[in-house]
Amino acid sequence: MGYSGGKTARQLESDTDEQVIDKMMRNFQAVFGANLPKPESYVNTRWSHDPYTQGSYSYYKTGSSQADRNALAEPVTNRLFFAGEATSLRHPATTHGAYLSGLREAENIKKIFC
Ligand SMILES: Cc1cc2nc3c(=O)[nH]c(=O)nc-3n(C[C@H](O)[C@H](O)[C@H](O)COP(=O)(O)OP(=O)(O)OC[C@H]3O[C@@H](n4cnc5c(N)ncnc54)[C@H](O)[C@@H]3O)c2cc1C
Repeated sequence: MGYSGGKTARQLESDTDEQVIDKMMRNFQAVFGANLPKPESYVNTRWSHDPYTQGSYSYYKTGSSQADRNALAEPVTNRLFFAGEATSLRHPATTHGAYLSGLREAENIKKIFC
């Protein structure tokens, strides 16, 4: 598995699958040697073109703060509740942050309705 970010990721997303594989193979062969075989199959994500992720998980933009994560987690009239990694202060950008935020909101719902 290989990750890329920033400008390189955007460039790779505009390449064909074959071009991406060629570039990745050159990097992997520099590490593992020229005899490394080509992959038999592959999945090439193009996350910045996915309208629901727009390329990434949450991050602190310049000028943002933990208050923004708290704002995202604010319920609406105690009827609509928000979980997800972006609402996690302690573990943003992680699967466990997303999971724990779900438990947090379940507890909040329980307090209100049970
Ligand atoms: C490349 C990459 C590597 C990662 N590696 C790790 C790792 O090693 N360890 C780790 O802990 N975490 C890792 N993460 C982070 C982890 O995947 C996320 O933090 C986690 O999936 C967030 O879960 P979530 O439920 O908050 O959001 P998501 O998993 O993003 O779920 C949100 C869902 O809402 C849907 N959605 C969005 N908008 C709408 C809409 N308007 N209507 C309907 N549906 C909508 C989306 O399609 C998506 O299915 C990685 C993430 C990436 C991108």
